[in-house]
Amino acid sequence: MAVPDYVPTPVDDIPTIRAELGAAFRAGTTKPIANRREQLLALAYLLKDNIDRFKEALASDLGRPALETDVLEVGGTLHEIKDAYDSVARWARPQRAPFALNYAAMRPTIRKEPKGVVLIIVPFNYPLLLTLEPLAGAIAAGCAAVVKPSELTPAFSALLADLVPQYLDPALYRVVNGAVPETTKLLEQPWDHILFTGSARVARIVLAAAARTLSPVTTELGGKSPVIVDASCDLRTTARRLVWGKTANAGQTCVAPDYVLVPRAFQDKLVQACIDVLKEFYPDGAAESDSYSRIVSPGHHARLSALLEKSGGTTAYGGGKRAEDKFIEPTIVTGVGLDDSLMSEELFGPVLPIIAVEDINEAIQIVNARDHPLALYVFTQDSRVKKQVLDGTQSGGAVVNDCLLQVTADGLPFGGIGPSGSGSHTGKYSFDMFTHTRSTLDNPSWLDLVMGGRFPPFTDKSTRMMRALLVPSLPARKSKSAANRWGSYWVMLSLACAAAAYGAKLIAERKQ
Ligand code: NAD
Repeated sequence: MAVPDYVPTPVDDIPTIRAELGAAFRAGTTKPIANRREQLLALAYLLKDNIDRFKEALASDLGRPALETDVLEVGGTLHEIKDAYDSVARWARPQRAPFALNYAAMRPTIRKEPKGVVLIIVPFNYPLLLTLEPLAGAIAAGCAAVVKPSELTPAFSALLADLVPQYLDPALYRVVNGAVPETTKLLEQPWDHILFTGSARVARIVLAAAARTLSPVTTELGGKSPVIVDASCDLRTTARRLVWGKTANAGQTCVAPDYVLVPRAFQDKLVQACIDVLKEFYPDGAAESDSYSRIVSPGHHARLSALLEKSGGTTAYGGGKRAEDKFIEPTIVTGVGLDDSLMSEELFGPVLPIIAVEDINEAIQIVNARDHPLALYVFTQDSRVKKQVLDGTQSGGAVVNDCLLQVTADGLPFGGIGPSGSGSHTGKYSFDMFTHTRSTLDNPSWLDLVMGGRFPPFTDKSTRMMRALLVPSLPARKSKSAANRWGSYWVMLSLACAAAAYGAKLIAERKQ
């Protein structure tokens, strides 16, 4: 079946769409769990019935091999939607607060309520996963939603705009297509939550706009995710997993390994192992392979080509480029300095700079001198190195001896820290992102017999009573003299042990 035409949403329609969703949300139809499950099932079938059309659209947008779309997007997305369908009743159940004597009679309860009408802004690189997974979270939370896919994936975005009204309730879930003018108009509206996934540059624009409407925002951004390779690693496994992480979707993955830090003495072995793997992955070259994606747009192709041309490093493998079909060959560059063009921004392409370091300590220093990354990878068989790297750095997520898998692993939140994003999603975390945890109390009249002292006029008796009720007693402070006393006990105990040992030695010597 043909992919429909990409048609941007008329900018003037956007305030009306927002208002219509607000009215539909207030009518309360999103709230019953049965309705949420019905829409989640419809969302699952939207994907399942159209898997081949989505693969076709992504092949058109990203030159993406069908198997890569299956592995990287379809399976995980369907799994997430099904999990929300199975779990929503449990997730949405009100939660009793932990028991506290003073408040127990008021039945303190956390109600899990939908935030309202939410906006999901999506980047180009994994449009299926990054649209439908958060949308499942929004539906499960009981929200109405607008999704705004990327203009850089027109085939996908057009297909989505065609399918959503066929499967989902159009009064509650809408697709707005377009680029800067349409997103700008969307951001002029107030939202009960915005999930923005994309670049740090655009995140600044989104956050500034959201500040004007006081719309809460989760940002899922990117950055340069480092890989630390230790000489103790399983070399072949390391090379296969690292090269796969870098070449999947032609490196256009937010958690792709961006650059490698490797001890100087081990560098050549690692580079050769990666070259061997590239030759196995693409025996006739990546340009001829139907297992290799293309760069999304001429602009990104030109950006990557310029970074490669300006680099002061040495191309150890690859370097081929072809503007006509936006092809960039998997490329390994050695001798890269920290001030090289390849270290100046998130690469978001199949180029792997290798930076030689003295040791793991220097690698950790380099990571810590830069923005906290979205992901950090360490390849080693040495448990001390694993601990040293994990304890000594900060990042959104971290994986030992593999790449990318943290995004799809069940039960793990996915998100950045600092400049790589704030907040997290996937699974229950997406439900939580779009849910307001509303604190409630239900206070019976008789409790004023105990708590009546809060009302004026205040007397000595009521002050004493309220203090007894509300001010907790603290454990006794450990005084300095007490600490000294314990110190003396330890000294005396040690002396006694030493004397006993000496006595035992004397007795033993006399016996001989
Ligand atoms: P982008 O920031 O250019 O675009 C993201 C969205 O913002 C698109 O829908 C686009 O239409 C919109 N947009 C672009 N310019 C805008 C403007 N001036 N005003 C308002 N809206 C605007 O990102 P991209 O190039 O599509 O995606 C790549 C980036 O996304 C990378 O930095 C990558 O690391 C990041 N990313 C992060 C995650 C994550 O989960 N953390 C996932 C995928 C991608």
